[in-house]
Amino acid sequence: MSSNKVGFVSLGCPKALVDSERILTQLKIDGYEIVPTYEDAEIVVVNTCGFIDSAKQESLDAIGEAISENGRVIVTGCMGVGGDAQAIMARHPKVLSVTGPAAYEEVVGAVHKYVPHTPAHDPFNDLVPPQGVKLTPRHYAYLKISEGCNHRCSFCIIPSMRGDLVSRPIGDVMAEAERLVRAGVRELLVISQDTSAYGIDTKYRTGFWNGRPMKTRMQELCEALGEFGIWVRLHYVYPYPHVDNVIPLMAEGKILPYLDVPLQHGSPEVLKRMKRPAAAEKSLQRIDKWRDICPDITLRSTFIVGFPGETERDFDILLDFLREAQLDRVGCFAYSPVKGAKANDLPNHVPEEVKQERWQRFMALQQEISSARLRAKIGKTVQILIDEVDEQGAIGRSSADAPEIDGRVFLNGAIGLNPGDFVEAEVTGSDEYDLWAG
Ligand code: SF4
Repeated sequence: MSSNKVGFVSLGCPKALVDSERILTQLKIDGYEIVPTYEDAEIVVVNTCGFIDSAKQESLDAIGEAISENGRVIVTGCMGVGGDAQAIMARHPKVLSVTGPAAYEEVVGAVHKYVPHTPAHDPFNDLVPPQGVKLTPRHYAYLKISEGCNHRCSFCIIPSMRGDLVSRPIGDVMAEAERLVRAGVRELLVISQDTSAYGIDTKYRTGFWNGRPMKTRMQELCEALGEFGIWVRLHYVYPYPHVDNVIPLMAEGKILPYLDVPLQHGSPEVLKRMKRPAAAEKSLQRIDKWRDICPDITLRSTFIVGFPGETERDFDILLDFLREAQLDRVGCFAYSPVKGAKANDLPNHVPEEVKQERWQRFMALQQEISSARLRAKIGKTVQILIDEVDEQGAIGRSSADAPEIDGRVFLNGAIGLNPGDFVEAEVTGSDEYDLWAG
């Protein structure tokens, strides 16, 4: 077995995926070869997710599998801090090293320690594509603009795992975006824990991109990304008043008319107990304003039902909110306690069967809304970015669909298309999630 082969298991959300990509890029630069099987690898890196208990279990299982199949395992990611890190060592004492999220240098350092390797010569550097190693298909990429979060939502332990907000310098973010676009990326997905807070920690410090001064702020970032002429999609934006300023960029076609706004609830009482950012903002008025400026905007959100203390009245307020907001894409979770979260100490936990029953009612209502909104697109011409081509034709997404989480557009019978192509087609059919076009 050659001594420079590393296996990699990447679990978790897009933010963890970006961490994986950065570690893989550095390992490649350092001359390591990434191999797809346990038996070919000299060592295996597992990037874990610790967001909810089921994700932690999946991470522990993945570590166990890597130990039994390979034996030499380095663990990193969201589970690699605090009590979770101890749980990993207790359950899998053979693990060689454990680090937390975004610990690129430590992970790469651990690989060097356990699998010493000196690159034969510089040419290895040239083998790494300038945009780095992407785990996503090459026509779209996640652009992480910050780490951590200044909020303290009572159900969430991310700040204790990832720390307070640290915004990346705008010059670095833009340079990365430019490299990705040059390498053929057609869609950039801007991610962070709170995209609307970008730059707050640096007091919107002025940085430079191609010699041009720019403030580290969401507005300036969106304007500059809009100059690339590709799709730019914003995730994890809170309904603060200053978000209104980026909506005209959507109306002008500079960035996609799409906002992912995790609202979590419609009842002010529940939002207060959740300690949600922008809980005091009038979300419905904000949404109306956004639609006034950009009528085609697609709004995605996530909600939690059955949060501790949620009464039937709170839940009715949430359903009324949904009816009024007419959101396009919605995810919903029945509340489940996360170890270490403050919400666990709140009184009046909702019985499991009530949570499930509310989840069903919520989803039934939202499906009606989503289906009607998709049906209204029939007969319209939409731009589609092709993701895959199969024997039936091509499958892509419209501006209303983020990869992995939203719907798809099926172009049955389409020929001559490739992943990464943009096409225009008329919508001919719809269901609760997807569209058909031709
Ligand atoms: S905004 Fe709230 S839910 Fe999101 S990462 Fe920050 S604390 Fe967690």
